[in-house]
Amino acid sequence: MDIVNFDNSFQKLPEFLYEIVEPTPLKHPKLVHVTELKKELGLLSYTDADILKWLNGELKLIGDQRISTRYAGHQFGVFAGQLGDGRAISLGEILTSTKGRLEIQTKGSGITPFSRMGDGKAVIRSSVREYLCSEAMYGLGIPSSRVLALIIGEDKVYRETVERPAIIARVFPSNIRFGHFEMCYHYNRPSVLNELIEYTRLGFFEGVSIYEMLEQIVEKTAFLIAYWQSVGFCHGVMNTDNMSILGITIDYGPFGFMEDTSLSHVCNHSDDSGRYSYENQPHAAAWNLEKLLVCFSKHVPRENLNKLLLSFSELFHAHYKKLCHSKIGLYKLEPEDDALFGSLLQILSSHSIDYTYFFRQLSNYKIKQLDTISDFWCYYAKSEQLLSWFLLYDQRLERELSDNHKRSMEMKKINPKYVLRNYIAQEVIEDIEKGGKQKLNEWLKVFYSPFEEHAAYESYSKPSTSINQSISVSCSS
Ligand code: AMP
Ligand code: MG
Repeated sequence: MDIVNFDNSFQKLPEFLYEIVEPTPLKHPKLVHVTELKKELGLLSYTDADILKWLNGELKLIGDQRISTRYAGHQFGVFAGQLGDGRAISLGEILTSTKGRLEIQTKGSGITPFSRMGDGKAVIRSSVREYLCSEAMYGLGIPSSRVLALIIGEDKVYRETVERPAIIARVFPSNIRFGHFEMCYHYNRPSVLNELIEYTRLGFFEGVSIYEMLEQIVEKTAFLIAYWQSVGFCHGVMNTDNMSILGITIDYGPFGFMEDTSLSHVCNHSDDSGRYSYENQPHAAAWNLEKLLVCFSKHVPRENLNKLLLSFSELFHAHYKKLCHSKIGLYKLEPEDDALFGSLLQILSSHSIDYTYFFRQLSNYKIKQLDTISDFWCYYAKSEQLLSWFLLYDQRLERELSDNHKRSMEMKKINPKYVLRNYIAQEVIEDIEKGGKQKLNEWLKVFYSPFEEHAAYESYSKPSTSINQSISVSCSS
């Protein structure tokens, strides 16, 4: 198999940053799904059988030399030393005509020099969740790594119970994380750090100055977190090794879309202190950026690094505000609008109202006609607090002078009808474990257009039962 425009640019960096590795193929592999990226990556002439063998590690490309990279990171507030790709292997980069350089990395391809105590495997459960969510984020317009294919195997993988393995092929412009810079800085490799900075600056930031690159990283991160907050997405493990330098969502683990609104919602059952709760995500991102910026202390004067760090909060709030105002159909900004949105969030939280469903229903609201969201009241008793909020909202909408129909259309472009609720992922996982492919195919179609109506899936847009919401998601993967 040969691919035109195949490159291995990361391997031109010092060997400190990676190790050459050999993948461990899954036994009796089965290709469950391939996404539309097959076309964008110029792989259409390859059969599914070729793609399966290539991604499973049974077939090599010409010049194919696979690597796992070395990075460090702060995990739950503590410097964890060297981590690295413990089960991910990069196959190289394809230079696409439409999307520039795209790195292909398989996750679950076996032990690497960075596996530590792990087995290098990934189970079906966590792989399907990452697969679905990567594409769901794309559908929502939120920056994220994407996926090319999902493979499952027959080998035994030992977690809390015996499970089966999977490999997903992830696709992103680059795997570079905050942790790669931390690795060079904390292990005192200034020349490797310089090369990594140059590689990143020239390859992914159009050659702007180091300071401007950092400005962009802070901005992209701020925007990403604002997007997450706006759709109620909780990452779950915002350690610095899980933060992309490109401001895209990576390393999906015990993530969750908040269902019953709770500002202190923690999606990861292993996060006892709630460090990465919904409301703490912006703070966690700023904390992580500080750890990244420290690595640039020889390149940028301290006062400028401080300035960059301070800019995060401003950028985050500006973007988040814009998204929030659009979520409630306000486009002329008034000073009280922040308070109006803030008080709504408090009410949703104190009454445990489904986050996604509420905003989608609000998109149908007509001025002074509470019954236009009658569907909503079937789920929630009419709270006095919420009714008072609607009075204020009515007054505010009148000043907006937007007509009901136009506002509704605009609001439905920002308030998704469908998000990846945990129980939906669970239904897909169970189908795949039984040998099915259909649910994955069907749900991907829904998640590629989450702002559209999908009549057959109506019930999944509604608040789910507490049993469905109680599905426990831990770090085990
Ligand atoms: P995560 O919490 O998934 O981001 O993983 C944290 C670190 O543990 C990363 O360095 C991973 O590569 C590594 N890791 C997680 N699971 C495994 C596994 N089953 N085998 C080897 N390394 C793993
Ligand atoms: Mg990780």
